[in-house]
Amino acid sequence: MTTTAIAAVLRDSDGKFELEEVELGPLESDELLVKVVGAGLCHTDLLLRDPNFLAQTGPIILGHEGSGIVEAVGSAVRSVEVGDHVLMSFESCGRCRNCLAGSPSYCDEFMSRNLSGRRADLSTSALDRNGNPVANRWFGQSSFATHAIATERNVVVVDKALPLELLGPLGCGLQTGAGSVLNEMKLAAGQSIAVFGAGGVGLSAVMAAKAAGARDIVVVDLVDSRLETAVEVGATRTVRGDAPDLVEAIKNGGRGLDFSFETTAVTSVITTAVSILDTPGKAVLVGGGSGKLDIDPVLLAGKSVTYALEGSSVPQVFLPQLVDLWQRGWFPFDKLVQTYTLDQINQAVEDSLSGKAIKPVLTPAHP
Ligand SMILES: [Zn+2]
Ligand SMILES: [Zn+2]
Repeated sequence: MTTTAIAAVLRDSDGKFELEEVELGPLESDELLVKVVGAGLCHTDLLLRDPNFLAQTGPIILGHEGSGIVEAVGSAVRSVEVGDHVLMSFESCGRCRNCLAGSPSYCDEFMSRNLSGRRADLSTSALDRNGNPVANRWFGQSSFATHAIATERNVVVVDKALPLELLGPLGCGLQTGAGSVLNEMKLAAGQSIAVFGAGGVGLSAVMAAKAAGARDIVVVDLVDSRLETAVEVGATRTVRGDAPDLVEAIKNGGRGLDFSFETTAVTSVITTAVSILDTPGKAVLVGGGSGKLDIDPVLLAGKSVTYALEGSSVPQVFLPQLVDLWQRGWFPFDKLVQTYTLDQINQAVEDSLSGKAIKPVLTPAHP
C-alpha cells in the first residue's frame, strides 16, 4: 500500500520549503503510518540550511517533533494500534549496548538513524512527482507533512483526551531541556541552575528546574522579551548576556551555581557556563554548531561537563511524565507554542530565527 501525502520538501539550502505531493511507499514490518496533526519546528531542522548537510541528504522532508493518529501498522508492530494517538520522538536501534542499558539517546546508530534522513540501511520510502527519492526518515519520522512513517520504537502512545496537536514538541526540544535537568543533572530541591539561551529548549529546562524545586534559576539571554517569558515560566533572576561582568552578575555575590545548561553553542558562552559553577558543579551542553570548548583545564577542577542528547531520556518513559507534569500545571510548555498551518512553514522558520516565535508548531491536518 502506498499513501499520497503533502509534504514540505527542502531542496535548496536557501531554507525555503515547497509543499509537494509525495508518494510514501509500503510499510516495513516495524513501521507505522501516522496522519500528522502537529509538528514542532526545532533548531536541528534548521541545520539543513547548511549546503554541505543538504548535499549529503538530498531533497528531504524535515520535522522531528510530530504528533498524530496511527492509520496503519506493519506486520510486526505489537504495542501500537490503528487509531492510537502518538507522539513521535527520536529513533534508536533497540539492540546495541546503550539501547539495552536504557540509554537510547546514545544509541550506536543515533546519527545514522536520525540525521541521515534515511533508514539504518540507507533506504528511503518517499518518491516525488517525477519518481525521484526524497529523504523521509529525518529522526525516524519527517513530520512536516500530512503523513509520516515512523517505527514502533520512536512513537509514544498518549491518551486520546489530550490536545494532540500541541504535544509534538515534547518529542525533541522540550524533552531535551527538561530531560537535561531531570534525567542528566538529577537536580534536587534547593539546588541552583543557570540557563544560557531562553529558546524552547532553555525555557523547558527552566520549567523542569522549577518543578524539581530549584532555589535559584538564573536565565541569560540577549532578547528582553524572552527574558520576560523566562520569568513567567519560573526564572528567579534574569541577566542580559551582554552584562559587563557576566560571570559575577550570574553568581550575584555567591559561591557559584550547582548546574549550568548551555543551549547557544557560542564558544564564549560555553566558557561562561563552566566559569559560573560552584565546586563541584556540572555543566550540560546541548547546543550544536561551530562552538568549541576553549577552557583552561584548571577551571574544571572538581567540576564536570557533558554534552547531552535528547535529555538522556527514554521517550516512552519520560514523555508521559512530562504530560503528567503539564496536566498538573507544573510544565506549562503551551505558553511557548505558536501554531502555523503547513503552508506557513517558511513564515514559521522566519519567526523562529527572529525570536518572534519560541516554539512554532505546524498543523498539517488544517489546510
Ligand atoms: Zn541502539
Ligand atoms: Zn530537535
